[in-house]
Amino acid sequence: MRPEILFPLFKPVTALKGVGPRLGKLIEKLAGGRLVDLCWHLPTGLIDRRFRPNVADAPDGAVVTLTVTVDEHHPPSNRRLPYKVLCSDQSGTVSLVFFNAKEDYLHQLLPLGATRIVSGRVGHYGAEIQMPHPDHMLAVEKEAELPLVEATYPLTAGLTAKPLHRAIHGALEQTPELAEWQDPAWLAREKWLPWRPALLAAHAPGSQDALQPGDPARRRLAYDELLANQLALAMIRAANRGRAGRAIVGDGRLRQALATALPYKLTQGQEQVLGEIQADMAVQQRMLRLLQGDVGSGKTIVALLAMLGAVETGAQAAFMVPTEILARQHFDTLTALCRDLPVRIQVLTGRSKGRPRQALLSDLADGQIDILIGTHALFTGDVIFHDLALTVIDEQHRFGVHQRLNLGDKGVAADILVMTATPIPRTLSLTVYGDMDISLLQGKPPGRQPVDTRAMPLSRLDEVVAGVQRAINQGARAFWVCPLVEENDLLDMAAAEERHATLARLFGPERVGLIHGRMKAKEKDLAMEAFVAGRTQVLVATTVIEVGVDVPEATIMAVEHAERFGLAQLHQLRGRVGRGGQKSHCLLLYAEPLGENARARIAIMRETEDGFRIAEEDLRLRGTGELLGTRQSGFPEFRLADAMAHQDLMEVARDDAQLILTRDPHLETERGQALRALLYLFERDAAVKLLRSG
Ligand code: ADP
Ligand code: MG
Repeated sequence: MRPEILFPLFKPVTALKGVGPRLGKLIEKLAGGRLVDLCWHLPTGLIDRRFRPNVADAPDGAVVTLTVTVDEHHPPSNRRLPYKVLCSDQSGTVSLVFFNAKEDYLHQLLPLGATRIVSGRVGHYGAEIQMPHPDHMLAVEKEAELPLVEATYPLTAGLTAKPLHRAIHGALEQTPELAEWQDPAWLAREKWLPWRPALLAAHAPGSQDALQPGDPARRRLAYDELLANQLALAMIRAANRGRAGRAIVGDGRLRQALATALPYKLTQGQEQVLGEIQADMAVQQRMLRLLQGDVGSGKTIVALLAMLGAVETGAQAAFMVPTEILARQHFDTLTALCRDLPVRIQVLTGRSKGRPRQALLSDLADGQIDILIGTHALFTGDVIFHDLALTVIDEQHRFGVHQRLNLGDKGVAADILVMTATPIPRTLSLTVYGDMDISLLQGKPPGRQPVDTRAMPLSRLDEVVAGVQRAINQGARAFWVCPLVEENDLLDMAAAEERHATLARLFGPERVGLIHGRMKAKEKDLAMEAFVAGRTQVLVATTVIEVGVDVPEATIMAVEHAERFGLAQLHQLRGRVGRGGQKSHCLLLYAEPLGENARARIAIMRETEDGFRIAEEDLRLRGTGELLGTRQSGFPEFRLADAMAHQDLMEVARDDAQLILTRDPHLETERGQALRALLYLFERDAAVKLLRSG
C-alpha cells in the first residue's frame, strides 16, 4: 500500500481546481494524468520581467514591465478588429491590444484614470508602441504578486501557458513535506535542499543556470529518482539471490548430439557466453543473467544449448519471445536444429485456443513437452509446467522489469536467461540491468560481409525501385520497410498497403508480400512463410519485422522515410540483412530537407555497424528519455534524471543502494521508512512488495 502521505500526489489532475476534463486530457497528454506528473514537469525556460523601462524606451520585441495610467478605451468598430486601451507614463503612450475582448471585463481590469502595472512583450508598429494581450495587469498595491522571473514549461498543441502554470502550481501546493531519505552527510556535502524545497526551487528558476541539469535542486531530484531506481534493482537482486535455486548439470548427451549435427562451429564468443551461462546454472543459486549480443551475433543457438542442458536433467525449458512471428520462427528453427534429437518442442501463443491448447497444456503438465516456445501467453495463469528449470526471454527490451519479476512464480527456482540485441550504452545498463549478471556475446559468425549502407533522397525512389527490381530478377530477396507514423498503426498500415500496391504492380503481384501489425496472426504467418520460402521476393512491412526476424537469404533492406526512425530502430532493421554469406545492402530513403538530427543519425548508420557505438551516439543525440522509446520498451523511464548529465550520480546511487541494503535490508529503520516512501514516489512499488514476501 502506498503511504497515505503520498495520496494527494497520485490524485488525477482533474482533482485540481480549474482543471476540467478537456484541460485534464491535454495535461495528461503532455505530462501525465496525476499531480505527481505535474511536479516532474520541470520548466525549460524563463521570462524575466525585471526590466522596467519608461514606455518610450521599451525596445521592440522585449518583455518589459511598465507602470502606466489608463487614458482611453477604444472598443473596436467591428468584431474582427482589436479592442485597444491607451495607457501612458510621462515618456509616452502604449496601446494594450486585445482580440475578442469583453468590454466589461477590460473596464473592470483597467479603469480609466487608474495606475496599473502591465507586463508583457512590446512591439513597435510605426510610431505606435503596442503590448498585445499583456501577461499580467495589476494594481500598484498588488505589485508583490507579479512574478518577476517566471518559469516557462514545454506545452502541447491546444494547451496554453497560463492554465498549465496554474495547474502546476496547484499540484506543487499539495505536495507534502516528506521525511528525509537521503543520507544527511551526503546532503550536507552537496549542499542540497530537502525534497520539497528542492522541488519548489526547480519550479522557480531565478536564472538560466537554474534550468540546467547541473543546478543543485535538479541534481537533488535526479538523485532521488536514481536512488529509487537503484534501490529497487538492488532489492530485486537480493530477493533473487536469497531464493534457493537448483543446480542444473546435464550429462551433455543432447548438447553433444546437436553440436555434431550443427552445420557450423560455435564462435569463440558463443563458447564463452555458453560457458558462463552453464556455470551459473550449475550452482545452487537462482540464475538471473542477461545475454547481450548485437543483432545477428547468434544468440539463438546459445539459448538452445542452455535449454538442452536443462532438458538433459529431465526438466523443462521455456523460451519467451515478444511477437507471434518470432515465436513461429524460433519454433521452426529449433525444431529443424533438433530434428534428430529426442527433444519435444511446442509453441504456445495467444492464438492457441480451444482443444489444441488444452491438449498442449496437459502435455506440458505431464512433462511430455521439453521446450515450450511462446509469447507472454506462456505465463498466463493456467499454464503449468511439470518441472520448469530454465526460462529464456528473447529480445528482453520489449518486456519490463515487472514482467521479469512475475516470471519467478512459474518454476520453483527456475533460472532465468534474458537476451537482448539492443545494445545499451554502458551508462544506462546500470539502471536497466542492475539486477542481473551480464554476459556479453562478442563478435559475429564468420563470413559475414559488412552491409553496404547508402542514403538517398526519396526523389530518387524510382532508381531504387529499379535497382531492387534488377536484384530480384537475379533471385535476391528484399525487405521494404514503410514509414513509421507516430504511434498510429492504422496510418502505418495505409502507407504499407499503398507501397505494396505499387511494387506489386511493377514487380508482379506474386512476387511481393505484405506484413503489418494490423493483420491477423495467421495472415502474418503466411506472409512470413512465403518470404522465408522464397515464394515472395519482396516483403513490404511496417516495423513489425524490426525485432529478431531471421531470413538469411534476404540481402536488401530498403527503409522509406529513414529520417523518421530512431538510430536503434535503424540498426535493428539493418540487422535483418547481412546474415548470410552474401553481400547485403541497406538503402535509407529520406525526405528532404533533412533536419540536423536526422542527418546525424543517417551519417552514423553509414559510418558504423557497431551496435554499441550506435547506442552511445543515440543516447548523445536523444537523451535517455527518448532512447528506444522508453514507454513501450520497458526501460525505466526517468523523469528527472538525465543519463548523460547525471552519470556521476548514477554510480553513486548504485553504491548508496548497496550500502543501504547492507545496513537495513528490510528498510525498517527511520530512514528505511523514508526510503519506502521514495520507492512509492517513483513508483518502484514492485520492489516494495518483495520486502513483504521475502
Ligand atoms: P541474433 O543474435 O540476432 O538472435 P541469430 O541467433 O538469429 O542472431 O543468428 C543469426 C544467424 O547466424 C542465424 O541464421 C544462425 O543460424 C547463424 N549462426 C549462428 N551462429 C553461427 C555460427 N557459429 N556460425 C555460423 N552461423 C551462425
Ligand atoms: Mg534473435
